[in-house]
Amino acid sequence: MINRDRLVSTFLELVRIDSPSGQEEEIARHLTAELRSLGLTVERDTTGNIIARLAEEGQPILLNAHMDTVQPGRGVKPVIEDGVIKSDGSTILGADDKSGVAVILEVLRVLVEQDLAHPPLEVALTVSEEKGLKGAKGLDLTRLRAQEGIVLDSGGEIGTIVISAPSQDKIRAVVHGKAAHAGVAPEKGINAILVAAEAIAAMPLGRIDEETTANLGRIQGGTATNIVPDQAEIEGEARSRDERKLEAQVQAMTEALKKAANRHGATVEIDVQRSYSTFKLSEEDGIVRRAVAAARTLGLTPALVPSGGGSDANIFNAAGITTINISAGMEKVHTKEEQVAVADMVKCAEFLLAILEGIE
Ligand SMILES: [Zn+2]
Repeated sequence: MINRDRLVSTFLELVRIDSPSGQEEEIARHLTAELRSLGLTVERDTTGNIIARLAEEGQPILLNAHMDTVQPGRGVKPVIEDGVIKSDGSTILGADDKSGVAVILEVLRVLVEQDLAHPPLEVALTVSEEKGLKGAKGLDLTRLRAQEGIVLDSGGEIGTIVISAPSQDKIRAVVHGKAAHAGVAPEKGINAILVAAEAIAAMPLGRIDEETTANLGRIQGGTATNIVPDQAEIEGEARSRDERKLEAQVQAMTEALKKAANRHGATVEIDVQRSYSTFKLSEEDGIVRRAVAAARTLGLTPALVPSGGGSDANIFNAAGITTINISAGMEKVHTKEEQVAVADMVKCAEFLLAILEGIE
């Protein structure tokens, strides 16, 4: 039923179109034309997302993948070796998330071409997912009628169904010390870098527990070696699938900053922003149940798993659209070794088709 060669050529075509986050115009134009040619009604919202609809009557199902990629993602030259698609090693491949986009297109083609019964579909192809889910956050969710959704934006064996993901808070702090000549009067200064370093050293970071992680990802400060630095800026994040644990983790990080600042007579400005919120679905949820049943029908092993990362599914679930995130076969994403097996993309398309066919 799935046209393997067509799916592969769609995927290759998509990865050859540059679409780093924020620069999705070309791929959006391409996809808009493709979706229209299949008979879908297509709009672009002010954020740049594509919202397309196939059949209007009845309760629609949301299908989602994102159009943007991380860098280095320009001039991707895909190569196929032993049924596995990779880049030539100089860029990422962009299977994250063009494998998801290609699978959605192939399934739409099969549904239209073979005139198969299916629920109405709302297709949301988002921009800037890799920039903190910016596209999905900018999506006017009131325009979607779907109450259930399927995101194709994760890895693992086909049949992997992400049913929970963490909340994420971003932490930005600016330590204010006092400048002084490093050789003449260092005792008159307060070294902001030293304060930041002590704070970071005191923070619990990395894997905190099975569902909680934290990272300090950026640091900047100072101007010259002969000046006691009066400013240091750090940025980090914390994630957990348990809100109380996340709160405790963020508090531990901010306390470390305050204590270090106090010890040295520095001050610190701390800004904590919620990036996205956790969701947790159960085997009882309709979309989960149907995905599990579809996987079994195809002889796949359904695996209901938690994820350590956020995706557009966090935004949809927060908006009340019960959404799973299924594997589209991508591996080693965000690296130049990124790859996807053709057989996995085909299996993913069969899986998605089977889920849709199981929905009245
Ligand atoms: Zn992705």
